[in-house]
Amino acid sequence: MTTPPALWLFGDQLGPHFHSTPEHRDREVLLIRSTAAFGRRRFHRQKLHLIEAGMRRLAADLGSRARIIDAATYTDGLRRFGKPVVVHEPGSHAAEALVRRLHERGLVADILPTPGFILSKQDFSAWVAGRHRYVMEDFYRDQRRRFGILLEPDGEPSGGKWNYDHDNRRPPPARSTLPVPAPWHPKENEIDKQVRVDLDRAESEGTIHPVGVDGPRQFAVGHAEAHRALRRFLDHRLATFGPHQDAMLHADWAMSHALLSVPLNHGLLDPLDVIRKAEERYRDGTAPLASVEGFVRQILGWREWVWHLYWHLGPDYLKHNRLRARNKLPAWWRELDADMVEAACLRTALAGVRDRGYAHHIERLMVLGNHALQRGYDPAELTDWFATAFVDGFPWVMPANVIGMSQYADGGIVATKPYAAGGAYINRMSDHCGGCVFDPRKRIGEKACPFTAGYWAFLDRNAELLRGNPRMRQPLNGLNRLSDLGEVVAQENDRRRV
Ligand code: FAD
Repeated sequence: MTTPPALWLFGDQLGPHFHSTPEHRDREVLLIRSTAAFGRRRFHRQKLHLIEAGMRRLAADLGSRARIIDAATYTDGLRRFGKPVVVHEPGSHAAEALVRRLHERGLVADILPTPGFILSKQDFSAWVAGRHRYVMEDFYRDQRRRFGILLEPDGEPSGGKWNYDHDNRRPPPARSTLPVPAPWHPKENEIDKQVRVDLDRAESEGTIHPVGVDGPRQFAVGHAEAHRALRRFLDHRLATFGPHQDAMLHADWAMSHALLSVPLNHGLLDPLDVIRKAEERYRDGTAPLASVEGFVRQILGWREWVWHLYWHLGPDYLKHNRLRARNKLPAWWRELDADMVEAACLRTALAGVRDRGYAHHIERLMVLGNHALQRGYDPAELTDWFATAFVDGFPWVMPANVIGMSQYADGGIVATKPYAAGGAYINRMSDHCGGCVFDPRKRIGEKACPFTAGYWAFLDRNAELLRGNPRMRQPLNGLNRLSDLGEVVAQENDRRRV
């Protein structure tokens, strides 16, 4: 019997659905540690740790089936391996172009579809053909129908409704942490120790230039850990996932979030399996429908949506800058220097990125993204920051989330209006404002909340560009009621220079 070509896996393709299906079970597995890929950009230290530990964990799990090659570049690694390999579609335009070139040169024998997402690229192309507007809700409902998730035998959605967002937007309770069991937490092992020593050495030799602190590992590495993390979430936290999804508490970085983006984006968990297991919890009565639907929506809806839009919108989408935002990210932001920040909500979110490479969705969208939007940070630079400073950041996640949703830099292709909000929103949805030096009701003076004043200055600066958007009519009309608008704008222009 002839030996099938080896399977080359990237660092985000580490689960059994990538390497141990019947099609691949007999293949040798190749992992290439490329110095160029690690050293090129300023990744969070904990992100480098997770990727490095993930590759070593897989090599250890696969034993003699796996081979790790250290090389300057992926091409060098393949040359050293010396035999053509097969590879799954990678997760970025740059990697896709590289893999195609390697295919033309005969180093890659075949490029296979990725099992990291549920819907294939062909099926998405067929779905999107002829559509002029991209509406996540339409996509999500079709995903539910196509894969038969939370559907009744008559084809109607379970519970009679497709969407439980309304039940899932409650402010936080009046306490410092959510009353939910703690998330799964890893125990570091020998691999972590070795990785830490190697990364320390690479840092001191100047081959990597990470940001953020090297904290204890917070997220799952390897398939076994990923499954433990998933089980803990399903058994103890899914039931409370829904109601406070949009809330923030200063002392509770995890709230009731799944903390599964790392194992999902590293390819450790099969997303359809995750969803089916969550659905079982609704069917067996252990989790309410609103929570299960909210969770399914995130993975079957949002995660799939941003992946497909990445490919559909293409590399030029990243160049959009409709609001002409050109301010550079300040040094304190790039360096994750949270202690420089006075506003409590922004300080907490940035400290989360510094300490864990993680902030939850509302901190990303309504604090970090909202601040960047108000200050007019350059969307491409911001995209790069999100992609490198977060442990779950990958190129495919960025365009729809950062350029589209968070920065409205595409002028409304992905989101129907900018996610700009003032301090009143943050005050309603968090416990930050009570202990903050700023006052969310004030827009002028020393105590003027940068989000409240920044919101009005943002609207004023972009009024012409936003006027054609019916959803912005009411907020823009609000500008006319401000007697002190000139003063607010001058104050915020000064603050934008910092
Ligand atoms: P939960 O809130 O518990 O959600 C469950 C899962 O749903 C997540 O693990 C994730 O896989 C998926 N999901 C939910 N929303 C999205 C979304 N909008 N896009 C993609 N997947 C989604 N997600 C990343 O995976 N990597 C990123 O780098 C990233 N950057 C973001 C930047 C901005 C500005 C914004 C607004 C969102 C970003 N997101 C990103 C989406 C979302 O914030 C994270 O997936 C989520 O916070 C991860 O934490 P969790 O696993 O606890 O998620």
